[in-house]
Amino acid sequence: MKRKLTPLRAIRHKCIDCCAGQVYEVKLCTAESCPLYAYRMGKLPDPLPEYDDGRPEPTEEDRERWKKFGQEMRAKQLGNASKDA
Ligand code: SF4
Repeated sequence: MKRKLTPLRAIRHKCIDCCAGQVYEVKLCTAESCPLYAYRMGKLPDPLPEYDDGRPEPTEEDRERWKKFGQEMRAKQLGNASKDA
């Protein structure tokens, strides 16, 4: 039976693959610095882990700029789609 591949299931599968198919080894993983570590058991950890990727926290100005960029890209794609039809 096929099931939907959720992000958590994808992480779980990746971890099983990382452990050469040994499901129990995933639980024993000691690579705490791996970004998938907290999600390796296929469940959302509570609380969610924090991480530092070295990048500064985006400002409100950054978010507004990205939002505007996304809207422009969507409008562009919709414009192209109507030309194709
Ligand atoms: S959390 Fe462990 S098992 Fe999962 S990908 Fe990272 S190193 Fe591999």
